[in-house]
Amino acid sequence: MSTEPVTTASQELQLTERASGFARRGQVWFYGSDVARGPLLPPRLVRVRDEGNRDLGLGFTSASRLVLRLCGPWPGDAVPDRASFFAQRLSAAIEARAGCLGPTDGARLVHGEGDWLPGLVIDRYGPVLVLQVTAAAVENALDAIVPFVADRLGAESVVARNDVAARKHEALPEEVSLLHGRRIAATAIVEHGVQHTVRVFEGHKTGFYLDQRPARALVQELGKGRRMLDLFCYQGAFALNALKGGAQAAVAVDQSADALRLATAAAAANGLQGLAVHEANVFDFLRAQREAGLQHDLVVLDPPAFAKSRRELEGAERGYRDLNRQALRVLAPHGFLLTCTCSHHMTPVRFEELVRQAAAGLPFRVVLRKRLGAGPDHPVCITHPESEYLKVLLLQRLD
Ligand code: SAH
Repeated sequence: MSTEPVTTASQELQLTERASGFARRGQVWFYGSDVARGPLLPPRLVRVRDEGNRDLGLGFTSASRLVLRLCGPWPGDAVPDRASFFAQRLSAAIEARAGCLGPTDGARLVHGEGDWLPGLVIDRYGPVLVLQVTAAAVENALDAIVPFVADRLGAESVVARNDVAARKHEALPEEVSLLHGRRIAATAIVEHGVQHTVRVFEGHKTGFYLDQRPARALVQELGKGRRMLDLFCYQGAFALNALKGGAQAAVAVDQSADALRLATAAAAANGLQGLAVHEANVFDFLRAQREAGLQHDLVVLDPPAFAKSRRELEGAERGYRDLNRQALRVLAPHGFLLTCTCSHHMTPVRFEELVRQAAAGLPFRVVLRKRLGAGPDHPVCITHPESEYLKVLLLQRLD
Protein backbone atom coordinates (compact mmCIF):
# COMPACT_ATOMS: atom_id res chain seq x y z
CA MET A 1 0.00 0.00 0.00
CA SER A 2 1.28 3.46 -0.84
CA THR A 3 2.19 5.67 2.08
CA GLU A 4 1.85 8.80 -0.05
CA PRO A 5 -0.80 10.93 1.64
CA VAL A 6 -3.79 11.62 -0.54
CA THR A 7 -5.36 15.04 -0.78
CA THR A 8 -8.46 15.32 1.31
CA ALA A 9 -11.20 17.84 0.74
CA SER A 10 -9.82 19.94 3.58
CA GLN A 11 -6.53 20.39 1.74
CA GLU A 12 -7.86 21.26 -1.67
CA LEU A 13 -9.00 24.55 -3.08
CA GLN A 14 -10.53 25.15 -6.50
CA LEU A 15 -10.37 28.44 -8.36
CA THR A 16 -13.16 29.78 -10.56
CA GLU A 17 -12.78 29.46 -14.32
CA ARG A 18 -11.78 33.12 -14.64
CA ALA A 19 -9.25 32.97 -11.81
CA SER A 20 -7.87 29.70 -13.18
CA GLY A 21 -7.07 31.51 -16.42
CA PHE A 22 -5.22 34.19 -14.47
CA ALA A 23 -3.33 31.54 -12.53
CA ARG A 24 -2.26 29.83 -15.76
CA ARG A 25 -1.02 33.20 -16.98
CA GLY A 26 1.14 33.59 -13.89
CA GLN A 27 -0.96 35.53 -11.37
CA VAL A 28 -0.07 34.54 -7.84
CA TRP A 29 -2.49 36.49 -5.61
CA PHE A 30 -6.22 35.69 -5.40
CA TYR A 31 -9.23 37.20 -3.62
CA GLY A 32 -12.45 35.79 -2.20
CA SER A 33 -14.46 35.84 -5.42
CA ASP A 34 -11.73 33.83 -7.18
CA VAL A 35 -12.40 30.73 -5.11
CA ALA A 36 -15.00 28.22 -6.36
CA ARG A 37 -14.65 25.64 -3.61
CA GLY A 38 -12.45 24.74 -0.74
CA PRO A 39 -11.62 25.64 2.79
CA LEU A 40 -9.64 28.76 3.49
CA LEU A 41 -9.33 28.41 7.22
CA PRO A 42 -7.31 27.89 9.25
CA PRO A 43 -4.56 29.51 7.15
CA ARG A 44 -2.54 26.65 5.67
CA LEU A 45 -0.86 25.01 2.73
CA VAL A 46 -3.35 23.65 0.19
CA ARG A 47 -3.33 22.04 -3.23
CA VAL A 48 -4.87 24.37 -5.79
CA ARG A 49 -6.98 23.13 -8.72
CA ASP A 50 -8.31 24.89 -11.77
CA GLU A 51 -11.93 24.79 -12.93
CA GLY A 52 -11.31 21.42 -14.63
CA ASN A 53 -9.66 20.01 -11.50
CA ARG A 54 -6.20 20.22 -13.02
CA ASP A 55 -3.29 20.92 -10.71
CA LEU A 56 -2.12 24.51 -10.14
CA GLY A 57 0.44 23.63 -7.49
CA LEU A 58 0.40 24.70 -3.86
CA GLY A 59 -0.86 27.82 -2.13
CA PHE A 60 -1.18 29.49 1.26
CA THR A 61 -4.71 30.35 2.33
CA SER A 62 -5.55 33.31 4.51
CA ALA A 63 -8.40 34.93 6.42
CA SER A 64 -7.50 38.29 4.89
CA ARG A 65 -8.89 39.82 1.70
CA LEU A 66 -5.99 38.15 -0.06
CA VAL A 67 -7.34 34.63 0.44
CA LEU A 68 -4.77 32.71 -1.57
CA ARG A 69 -1.11 33.17 -2.49
CA LEU A 70 0.30 30.54 -4.80
CA CYS A 71 3.58 28.97 -3.79
CA GLY A 72 4.57 27.02 -6.83
CA PRO A 73 4.45 23.54 -8.28
CA TRP A 74 5.00 20.43 -6.21
CA PRO A 75 5.44 16.85 -7.44
CA GLY A 76 2.58 14.38 -7.14
CA ASP A 77 -0.93 15.15 -6.17
CA ALA A 78 -0.78 15.53 -2.41
CA VAL A 79 -0.10 18.32 0.04
CA PRO A 80 3.33 17.81 1.60
CA ASP A 81 3.70 18.12 5.34
CA ARG A 82 4.92 21.58 6.16
CA ALA A 83 8.37 20.47 7.31
CA SER A 84 9.06 18.92 3.88
CA PHE A 85 7.60 21.86 2.03
CA PHE A 86 9.62 24.49 3.89
CA ALA A 87 12.79 22.38 3.85
CA GLN A 88 12.61 22.16 0.05
CA ARG A 89 11.77 25.83 -0.61
CA LEU A 90 14.26 27.16 1.99
CA SER A 91 17.06 24.91 0.69
CA ALA A 92 16.46 26.09 -2.86
CA ALA A 93 16.52 29.73 -1.74
CA ILE A 94 19.72 29.27 0.28
CA GLU A 95 21.46 27.37 -2.53
CA ALA A 96 20.64 30.18 -4.94
CA ARG A 97 22.59 32.58 -2.65
CA ALA A 98 25.57 30.27 -2.11
CA GLY A 99 27.99 32.98 -3.30
CA CYS A 100 27.07 35.47 -0.58
CA LEU A 101 27.04 33.40 2.59
CA GLY A 102 30.46 34.33 3.97
CA PRO A 103 30.78 35.08 7.70
CA THR A 104 30.51 38.87 7.25
CA ASP A 105 28.10 38.95 4.33
CA GLY A 106 24.66 40.48 4.37
CA ALA A 107 22.12 38.95 2.00
CA ARG A 108 18.43 38.36 1.59
CA LEU A 109 17.95 34.61 1.72
CA VAL A 110 14.23 34.50 1.11
CA HIS A 111 12.31 37.11 -0.86
CA GLY A 112 8.65 36.10 -0.66
CA GLU A 113 6.99 35.30 -3.97
CA GLY A 114 10.38 35.47 -5.73
CA ASP A 115 11.31 32.29 -3.85
CA TRP A 116 7.84 30.72 -3.91
CA LEU A 117 7.51 31.61 -0.24
CA PRO A 118 4.89 34.37 -0.14
CA GLY A 119 4.66 36.16 3.20
CA LEU A 120 8.23 35.33 4.22
CA VAL A 121 11.41 37.36 4.13
CA ILE A 122 14.66 36.14 5.68
CA ASP A 123 17.75 38.33 5.78
CA ARG A 124 21.12 37.16 6.99
CA TYR A 125 23.65 39.45 8.62
CA GLY A 126 26.66 37.30 9.45
CA PRO A 127 25.63 35.19 12.45
CA VAL A 128 22.13 36.67 12.70
CA LEU A 129 19.01 35.76 10.74
CA VAL A 130 16.11 38.19 10.64
CA LEU A 131 12.65 37.02 9.60
CA GLN A 132 9.68 39.07 8.54
CA VAL A 133 6.40 37.18 8.34
CA THR A 134 3.33 38.65 6.68
CA ALA A 135 1.19 35.54 6.13
CA ALA A 136 -0.60 33.60 8.86
CA ALA A 137 0.14 30.32 7.07
CA VAL A 138 3.84 31.08 7.41
CA GLU A 139 3.47 32.18 11.04
CA ASN A 140 1.78 28.85 11.77
CA ALA A 141 4.81 27.06 10.35
CA LEU A 142 7.54 28.87 12.30
CA ASP A 143 8.12 25.69 14.29
CA ALA A 144 9.36 24.12 11.06
CA ILE A 145 11.08 27.18 9.56
CA VAL A 146 13.18 28.50 12.47
CA PRO A 147 15.01 25.28 13.47
CA PHE A 148 15.62 24.47 9.81
CA VAL A 149 17.28 27.77 8.89
CA ALA A 150 19.11 28.12 12.21
CA ASP A 151 20.63 24.68 11.80
CA ARG A 152 21.33 24.94 8.08
CA LEU A 153 23.14 28.28 8.43
CA GLY A 154 24.62 27.80 11.89
CA ALA A 155 22.89 30.99 13.06
CA GLU A 156 23.68 32.28 16.55
CA SER A 157 20.51 34.30 16.66
CA VAL A 158 17.16 34.36 14.87
CA VAL A 159 15.04 37.48 15.26
CA ALA A 160 11.52 38.27 14.06
CA ARG A 161 11.16 41.85 12.81
CA ASN A 162 7.42 41.58 12.68
CA ASP A 163 6.81 45.26 13.41
CA VAL A 164 5.14 45.74 10.04
CA ALA A 165 1.65 47.08 9.40
CA ALA A 166 0.87 44.39 6.78
CA ARG A 167 0.45 41.90 9.63
CA LYS A 168 -2.79 43.60 10.66
CA HIS A 169 -4.53 42.14 7.60
CA GLU A 170 -3.64 38.67 8.82
CA ALA A 171 -4.70 39.37 12.41
CA LEU A 172 -1.09 38.89 13.50
CA PRO A 173 0.46 41.02 16.25
CA GLU A 174 3.07 43.63 15.35
CA GLU A 175 6.13 42.76 17.41
CA VAL A 176 9.86 42.26 17.50
CA SER A 177 11.09 39.09 19.18
CA LEU A 178 13.99 36.73 19.59
CA LEU A 179 13.02 33.36 18.11
CA HIS A 180 16.22 31.40 18.64
CA GLY A 181 19.66 31.68 20.23
CA ARG A 182 21.04 34.69 22.02
CA ARG A 183 20.22 38.35 21.69
CA ILE A 184 22.72 40.12 19.41
CA ALA A 185 21.66 43.76 19.32
CA ALA A 186 24.08 44.83 16.61
CA THR A 187 26.29 43.02 14.17
CA ALA A 188 28.52 44.12 11.30
CA ILE A 189 28.54 43.21 7.65
CA VAL A 190 31.10 44.03 4.99
CA GLU A 191 29.93 44.94 1.51
CA HIS A 192 32.07 46.25 -1.36
CA GLY A 193 34.89 46.62 1.20
CA VAL A 194 32.82 48.85 3.52
CA GLN A 195 31.76 47.77 7.00
CA HIS A 196 28.21 48.59 8.07
CA THR A 197 26.68 48.24 11.51
CA VAL A 198 23.33 46.46 11.45
CA ARG A 199 21.00 46.91 14.40
CA VAL A 200 18.65 44.03 13.94
CA PHE A 201 16.11 45.02 16.61
CA GLU A 202 15.89 48.75 15.86
CA GLY A 203 17.33 49.47 12.43
CA HIS A 204 15.06 50.23 9.48
CA LYS A 205 13.49 47.29 7.67
CA THR A 206 15.29 44.19 9.00
CA GLY A 207 18.30 46.30 9.99
CA PHE A 208 19.81 47.42 6.70
CA TYR A 209 18.78 48.38 3.14
CA LEU A 210 20.17 45.21 1.58
CA ASP A 211 18.23 45.90 -1.60
CA GLN A 212 20.47 48.83 -2.62
CA ARG A 213 23.58 46.69 -2.97
CA PRO A 214 23.94 47.19 -6.76
CA ALA A 215 23.40 50.95 -6.44
CA ARG A 216 26.03 51.17 -3.69
CA ALA A 217 28.54 49.45 -5.99
CA LEU A 218 27.75 51.98 -8.70
CA VAL A 219 28.18 54.92 -6.31
CA GLN A 220 31.55 53.55 -5.24
CA GLU A 221 32.54 53.26 -8.88
CA LEU A 222 31.41 56.82 -9.66
CA GLY A 223 32.82 58.35 -6.48
CA LYS A 224 36.41 59.00 -7.52
CA GLY A 225 37.34 62.66 -7.25
CA ARG A 226 33.73 63.78 -6.96
CA ARG A 227 31.90 65.89 -4.41
CA MET A 228 28.99 63.79 -3.33
CA LEU A 229 25.64 64.55 -1.71
CA ASP A 230 23.73 61.71 0.02
CA LEU A 231 20.10 62.78 0.53
CA PHE A 232 17.92 60.74 2.95
CA CYS A 233 21.20 59.12 3.95
CA TYR A 234 20.09 57.10 7.01
CA GLN A 235 23.37 55.51 8.23
CA GLY A 236 25.24 56.99 5.30
CA ALA A 237 25.69 53.79 3.30
CA PHE A 238 25.88 55.61 -0.04
CA ALA A 239 28.21 58.33 1.27
CA LEU A 240 30.56 55.68 2.70
CA ASN A 241 30.71 53.96 -0.67
CA ALA A 242 31.42 57.22 -2.49
CA LEU A 243 34.28 57.93 -0.07
CA LYS A 244 35.56 54.38 -0.40
CA GLY A 245 35.66 54.96 -4.16
CA GLY A 246 37.78 58.08 -3.69
CA ALA A 247 35.24 60.90 -3.43
CA GLN A 248 36.73 64.26 -2.46
CA ALA A 249 33.98 64.88 0.06
CA ALA A 250 30.53 63.62 0.96
CA VAL A 251 27.68 65.52 2.59
CA ALA A 252 25.06 63.25 4.15
CA VAL A 253 21.62 64.66 4.96
CA ASP A 254 18.88 63.17 7.09
CA GLN A 255 16.31 64.44 9.56
CA SER A 256 17.34 61.82 12.10
CA ALA A 257 20.20 62.87 14.38
CA ASP A 258 20.54 59.24 15.47
CA ALA A 259 21.08 58.03 11.93
CA LEU A 260 23.68 60.75 11.36
CA ARG A 261 25.58 59.73 14.48
CA LEU A 262 25.78 56.19 13.09
CA ALA A 263 26.97 57.53 9.73
CA THR A 264 29.76 59.48 11.41
CA ALA A 265 30.78 56.47 13.50
CA ALA A 266 30.77 54.26 10.40
CA ALA A 267 33.07 56.63 8.52
CA ALA A 268 35.52 56.54 11.44
CA ALA A 269 35.31 52.75 11.76
CA ASN A 270 36.12 52.43 8.06
CA GLY A 271 38.95 54.96 8.20
CA LEU A 272 37.16 57.15 5.65
CA GLN A 273 37.77 60.91 5.70
CA GLY A 274 35.64 63.65 4.22
CA LEU A 275 32.15 62.99 5.57
CA ALA A 276 30.06 65.95 6.73
CA VAL A 277 26.60 65.26 8.13
CA HIS A 278 23.70 67.65 8.09
CA GLU A 279 20.50 67.25 10.12
CA ALA A 280 17.75 68.75 7.98
CA ASN A 281 14.57 68.24 6.05
CA VAL A 282 15.80 67.38 2.55
CA PHE A 283 13.18 69.61 0.89
CA ASP A 284 14.42 72.66 2.85
CA PHE A 285 18.05 71.65 2.46
CA LEU A 286 17.81 71.48 -1.33
CA ARG A 287 16.08 74.84 -1.53
CA ALA A 288 18.84 76.43 0.57
CA GLN A 289 21.57 74.78 -1.52
CA ARG A 290 20.07 76.12 -4.68
CA GLU A 291 19.65 79.60 -3.27
CA ALA A 292 23.30 79.55 -2.22
CA GLY A 293 24.29 78.38 -5.72
CA LEU A 294 25.97 75.21 -4.44
CA GLN A 295 26.54 72.30 -6.82
CA HIS A 296 27.53 68.66 -6.49
CA ASP A 297 29.09 66.12 -8.84
CA LEU A 298 27.16 63.11 -7.59
CA VAL A 299 23.81 63.25 -5.82
CA VAL A 300 21.98 60.27 -4.37
CA LEU A 301 18.27 60.73 -3.75
CA ASP A 302 16.84 57.79 -1.82
CA PRO A 303 13.66 58.94 -0.06
CA PRO A 304 11.37 56.74 2.02
CA ALA A 305 8.26 55.34 0.27
CA PHE A 306 6.04 58.40 -0.01
CA ALA A 307 3.11 56.35 -1.31
CA LYS A 308 2.28 53.73 1.28
CA SER A 309 -1.00 53.05 -0.50
CA ARG A 310 -2.46 53.61 -3.94
CA ARG A 311 -4.63 56.39 -2.51
CA GLU A 312 -1.58 58.39 -1.48
CA LEU A 313 -0.02 58.10 -4.90
CA GLU A 314 -1.02 61.50 -6.26
CA GLY A 315 0.49 63.50 -3.39
CA ALA A 316 3.50 61.23 -3.45
CA GLU A 317 4.03 61.84 -7.14
CA ARG A 318 4.14 65.58 -6.56
CA GLY A 319 6.73 65.01 -3.82
CA TYR A 320 8.92 62.81 -6.04
CA ARG A 321 8.68 65.25 -8.94
CA ASP A 322 9.65 68.27 -6.82
CA LEU A 323 12.49 66.45 -5.14
CA ASN A 324 13.92 65.19 -8.40
CA ARG A 325 13.70 68.63 -9.95
CA GLN A 326 15.43 70.23 -6.97
CA ALA A 327 18.11 67.54 -6.98
CA LEU A 328 18.77 67.99 -10.71
CA ARG A 329 19.13 71.73 -10.12
CA VAL A 330 22.03 71.29 -7.71
CA LEU A 331 24.00 69.08 -10.14
CA ALA A 332 27.30 70.44 -11.37
CA PRO A 333 27.94 70.20 -15.14
CA HIS A 334 28.40 66.50 -16.04
CA GLY A 335 27.16 65.60 -12.56
CA PHE A 336 25.24 62.39 -11.83
CA LEU A 337 21.95 61.93 -10.03
CA LEU A 338 21.11 58.48 -8.71
CA THR A 339 17.39 58.66 -7.99
CA CYS A 340 15.40 55.94 -6.27
CA THR A 341 11.87 55.01 -5.28
CA CYS A 342 11.01 52.08 -3.07
CA SER A 343 7.26 52.58 -3.31
CA HIS A 344 5.41 49.42 -4.38
CA HIS A 345 2.73 51.56 -5.97
CA MET A 346 5.04 53.50 -8.21
CA THR A 347 5.55 51.47 -11.37
CA PRO A 348 8.84 51.71 -13.27
CA VAL A 349 7.04 53.42 -16.17
CA ARG A 350 5.35 55.92 -13.87
CA PHE A 351 8.58 56.69 -12.06
CA GLU A 352 10.41 57.42 -15.31
CA GLU A 353 7.55 59.64 -16.41
CA LEU A 354 7.88 61.67 -13.20
CA VAL A 355 11.60 62.01 -13.61
CA ARG A 356 11.03 63.13 -17.20
CA GLN A 357 8.64 65.81 -15.96
CA ALA A 358 11.18 66.85 -13.34
CA ALA A 359 13.89 67.23 -15.99
CA ALA A 360 11.76 69.05 -18.54
CA GLY A 361 12.54 72.70 -19.07
CA LEU A 362 15.85 72.74 -17.19
CA PRO A 363 18.61 74.76 -18.88
CA PHE A 364 20.67 71.61 -19.58
CA ARG A 365 20.13 68.14 -21.01
CA VAL A 366 19.51 65.21 -18.68
CA VAL A 367 20.36 61.76 -20.02
CA LEU A 368 19.41 58.39 -18.64
CA ARG A 369 22.57 56.34 -18.11
CA LYS A 370 21.36 53.27 -16.26
CA ARG A 371 18.34 51.51 -14.79
CA LEU A 372 18.92 49.48 -11.63
CA GLY A 373 16.85 47.63 -9.11
CA ALA A 374 17.37 45.42 -6.12
CA GLY A 375 20.16 42.85 -6.31
CA PRO A 376 19.87 39.21 -7.38
CA ASP A 377 19.17 38.17 -3.79
CA HIS A 378 15.80 39.95 -4.22
CA PRO A 379 14.42 37.93 -7.15
CA VAL A 380 11.38 39.49 -8.79
CA CYS A 381 8.77 37.01 -9.93
CA ILE A 382 8.13 38.47 -13.37
CA THR A 383 4.44 37.54 -13.32
CA HIS A 384 4.07 39.29 -9.97
CA PRO A 385 5.08 42.89 -10.66
CA GLU A 386 4.17 43.91 -7.09
CA SER A 387 7.44 42.34 -5.96
CA GLU A 388 9.49 44.81 -8.02
CA TYR A 389 9.36 47.65 -5.52
CA LEU A 390 12.79 49.27 -5.88
CA LYS A 391 13.42 51.36 -8.97
CA VAL A 392 16.71 53.24 -9.42
CA LEU A 393 17.77 55.51 -12.29
CA LEU A 394 21.19 56.99 -12.96
CA LEU A 395 20.88 60.33 -14.74
CA GLN A 396 23.59 62.67 -15.95
CA ARG A 397 23.54 66.38 -16.60
CA LEU A 398 25.03 67.27 -19.95
CA ASP A 399 25.43 70.86 -21.02
N1 SAH B 1 19.66 55.91 1.71
C1 SAH B 1 19.52 55.11 2.90
C2 SAH B 1 18.11 54.70 3.17
C3 SAH B 1 17.12 55.84 3.26
S1 SAH B 1 15.80 55.53 4.34
C4 SAH B 1 20.42 53.88 2.78
O1 SAH B 1 20.91 53.60 1.70
O2 SAH B 1 20.65 53.20 3.78
C5 SAH B 1 15.01 57.03 4.42
C6 SAH B 1 15.65 58.03 5.36
O3 SAH B 1 15.00 59.27 5.10
C7 SAH B 1 15.45 57.79 6.85
O4 SAH B 1 16.71 57.75 7.46
C8 SAH B 1 14.64 58.97 7.36
O5 SAH B 1 15.11 59.45 8.62
C9 SAH B 1 14.90 60.00 6.31
N2 SAH B 1 13.87 61.03 6.05
C10 SAH B 1 12.55 60.85 5.82
N3 SAH B 1 11.95 61.99 5.47
C11 SAH B 1 12.93 62.94 5.49
C12 SAH B 1 12.97 64.33 5.19
N4 SAH B 1 11.88 64.98 4.79
N5 SAH B 1 14.14 64.98 5.30
C13 SAH B 1 15.26 64.33 5.69
N6 SAH B 1 15.29 63.02 5.96
C14 SAH B 1 14.15 62.33 5.86
